[in-house]
Amino acid sequence: MKDLIDRLVKERDLSDEEFERLILCEDKETTEYLASKAREVREDVYGKEVYLRGLIEFTNYCKNDCLYCGIRRSNKNAERYRLTEEQILSCCESGYKLGFRTFVLQGGEDAYFSDDVLVPLIKEIKEKYPECALTLSIGEREKESYQKLFDAGADRYLLRHETADKEHYESLHPAELSFDHRMKCLWDLKEIGYQVGCGMMIGSPNQTVKHLIKDLRFLQEFKPEMVGIGPFIPHHDTPFADCETGSVEITLKLLSIIRIMLPEVLLPATTALGTADGLGREKGILAGANVVMPNLSPTDVRDKYLLYDNKICTGDEAAECIRCMTLRVKKVGYEVVQKRGDHIRFS
Ligand code: SAH
Repeated sequence: MKDLIDRLVKERDLSDEEFERLILCEDKETTEYLASKAREVREDVYGKEVYLRGLIEFTNYCKNDCLYCGIRRSNKNAERYRLTEEQILSCCESGYKLGFRTFVLQGGEDAYFSDDVLVPLIKEIKEKYPECALTLSIGEREKESYQKLFDAGADRYLLRHETADKEHYESLHPAELSFDHRMKCLWDLKEIGYQVGCGMMIGSPNQTVKHLIKDLRFLQEFKPEMVGIGPFIPHHDTPFADCETGSVEITLKLLSIIRIMLPEVLLPATTALGTADGLGREKGILAGANVVMPNLSPTDVRDKYLLYDNKICTGDEAAECIRCMTLRVKKVGYEVVQKRGDHIRFS
């Protein structure tokens, strides 16, 4: 297996069969070797730096009905909220003081946040914090809309592809959502000039290793600036309530493989990884991740943005989250820095 990993490092690629063997390999020594190679690759590009993204979960209204997601529109038990423009700006203000240089506005697909509402908000954030990057994660929109938001000043966009297999995609989403439109959105975002993040859940219902290999092939083709991956975690009020949580070990192996395949990629150790395993984010960093996304949302809405059960950090103040994250990162030998943390091609 070591030869295989060395070849992955050299060629940044393997055959489907080889990827399958690596993903399924449970030998501790092999996975530690894979992680050590991923750390080398990451340190060559980004050193020991870990970038912070201040996550502002600004609305949990959503018109979509994704089968895995706790804020899907059919979940009548979800208590809906929407932050005001003032509240969002105040999150940015406290985040800025705490050292965040990237803000991520994430939410459900909420019709209230039309281009006419978002454009002035984006402009105001960028005017107040010109040295900060602004990331949007608000789902599928038309290209004209993405263009307007980009022109207003948004720098980056996160839209996970969820799975690169059309049939699998259709088993995770209602019929009105289409795999082809998801893909079109990603290519549109890239063409407009955003730093684009895609990604998938690990261990989502019906997922096989073949699907994960398709995901890797898609990443090779799309060349995203960021890749967000985390284990699937069931939410009790969704059709997938009784499904199993995705494997932390496989998530970690994929983080390492993705780091080696795309050396410059920005790779978060996600909240879902930290939820599935108390030390998940630390393990993620040791597997090649170089981004963490502490929560900046006001504490009174934290426990309402629940995509899955048992989400961590729903009770903590932003200041506490950043203190805790900084310590956790330090403990594993890395350093949280107050920088925008752009992809190397954009900095
Ligand atoms: N509405 C936005 C933001 C979605 S939430 C959008 O469509 O992009 C961000 C990500 O959380 C999703 O893309 C999905 O991959 C992940 N997610 C949703 N439900 C989840 C679950 N039950 N377990 C793990 N991750 C989940």
